[in-house]
Amino acid sequence: MSEFWYKACLRCGGEMEEGFALDEAHGEKKQGQWVEGAPTKSIWTGLKLKGRRKLSIDAYRCTDCGFLDLFARDED
Ligand SMILES: [Zn+2]
Repeated sequence: MSEFWYKACLRCGGEMEEGFALDEAHGEKKQGQWVEGAPTKSIWTGLKLKGRRKLSIDAYRCTDCGFLDLFARDED
């Protein structure tokens, strides 16, 4: 576990479980990504992503109220 791990839900104090955002586009399963900046549409690829920073999303879920806490950590 990392230092970002919360034992207790920020909303209700319930127990948090580890997970991640899933990206299942085109039948390929990948971890969801945080992308820098506002979304810009592209007629070719759906969204323009060239030159943007992308980080994998880790998601922690409260087992009591369902609150999600998302992290997109710098990968260094
Ligand atoms: Zn909660």
